[in-house]
Amino acid sequence: MSGQAIICGGSIGGLFAAAALLRTGWRVDVYERSRAELSGRGAGIVTHGQLIDALAHVGADTDELGVETRERAVFDKAGDVVATMDYHQIVTSWDRIHQSLRSLIPEAHHHLGKSAVDYETGKTPRVTFDDGSVAEADLLIGADGFRSAIRARMLPQVQPAYSGYVVWRALAKESDLPRDVHEAVFERFGFYLPAGLQIIGYPIAGPGNDLRPGQRRYNFVWYSQVAPDKLADMLTDATGQHHAMSIPPPFVRDDVLSAMLAAARAQLPDPFFRILEQSERPFFTPIYDHLSPAMAKGRVALVGDAACVARPHVGMGVTKAAGDALTLAGLLGTGDVPGALAAYSDTRVPAARAAYDRSRQLGDWMLLDPPGGNPDGRNNPNLHDIMRLTAIADF
Ligand SMILES: Cc1cc2nc3c(=O)[nH]c(=O)nc-3n(C[C@H](O)[C@H](O)[C@H](O)COP(=O)(O)OP(=O)(O)OC[C@H]3O[C@@H](n4cnc5c(N)ncnc54)[C@H](O)[C@@H]3O)c2cc1C
Repeated sequence: MSGQAIICGGSIGGLFAAAALLRTGWRVDVYERSRAELSGRGAGIVTHGQLIDALAHVGADTDELGVETRERAVFDKAGDVVATMDYHQIVTSWDRIHQSLRSLIPEAHHHLGKSAVDYETGKTPRVTFDDGSVAEADLLIGADGFRSAIRARMLPQVQPAYSGYVVWRALAKESDLPRDVHEAVFERFGFYLPAGLQIIGYPIAGPGNDLRPGQRRYNFVWYSQVAPDKLADMLTDATGQHHAMSIPPPFVRDDVLSAMLAAARAQLPDPFFRILEQSERPFFTPIYDHLSPAMAKGRVALVGDAACVARPHVGMGVTKAAGDALTLAGLLGTGDVPGALAAYSDTRVPAARAAYDRSRQLGDWMLLDPPGGNPDGRNNPNLHDIMRLTAIADF
């Protein structure tokens, strides 16, 4: 049985849901708040086998998906390798995944500049957008991210919680890296794990998915503790305007960037600091998480970050969204929409909880700061576990 679905949110979760439903004969319309086509500022995304299978299942192109790293390595403050692990993993970029899914959605059914503000549930769900227009269908999917308007209506008690740390992200061109820095870190999935902070870095494709050596980029992720009052200051722009929860990168004040670079110079191994120096303007994101106790009600379902955000240590956001989409599309074949959505929620809430719990465990280990702890990143008691469990989907 098929029908018509409204999908609010045209990022990876929404496009995965649209592509999966289209393959089962559903008609879909995607409504995205942004007025312009989305772009992910080049952010790196680690992949897992489940994600590559899901992309292939919906008909997305999986050729030349990204750069393959073959080894993980932990560095100490002096820049020496203190632990390694063989692990093959393809690291791709948000843009690469988004573009391959976006190409599967017919233009006539993809609507930009449409922000859902509310919905009603009668016999069929009816969504109201900020321009006053409405849309009605057999099924409504909230794929509108961690501050989801659809979830706010369905589960108002679920609120994202601040973790106590932010992530600074930066991208450096491979060709800009000094030779010694390139040799030390570029080809490996690298970690720096002293008490209280964490660095993860890996190579990704260059602009336009360019995988040629010399044309790639290094993706740099630095988790850094920030107290809530200091975070409020970092989220305030140069005009004094405070941005709730996160701040668009161009609005980050110069003095916030200068303070970050000074801290990086003092705290990071030299190769990582030099990569940061060579990077395009770094930007930060406060880390929040949340877990919805249900992922559907009646004829309304939540997918991806709207349903659950696990902190990024597990690298599961995109894979989890893909799993939500494929499970939902598979169950909807039965013809009973409310019944399929109830089964969907029963299946996917435990999957979301597993990622959420694992990511909190990894975050808690990072924040351990025993007196006289391991300032050089050599003797972290959980060093091998962090390397073995980060961004690996074995739960
Ligand atoms: C530092 C960091 C590193 C990460 N690393 C990884 C990784 O390695 N691997 C991985 O898999 N994941 C990773 N993630 C997570 C991943 O980016 C997200 O989980 C994923 O993009 C979620 O997709 P989504 O479509 O559910 O939500 P989002 O990408 O947040 O998209 C929601 C969309 O809905 C739109 N929208 C919002 N409100 C409305 C509305 N009212 N009406 C209509 N549209 C609306 C928004 O404009 C947006 O386009 C990382 C995240 C961070 C912060």
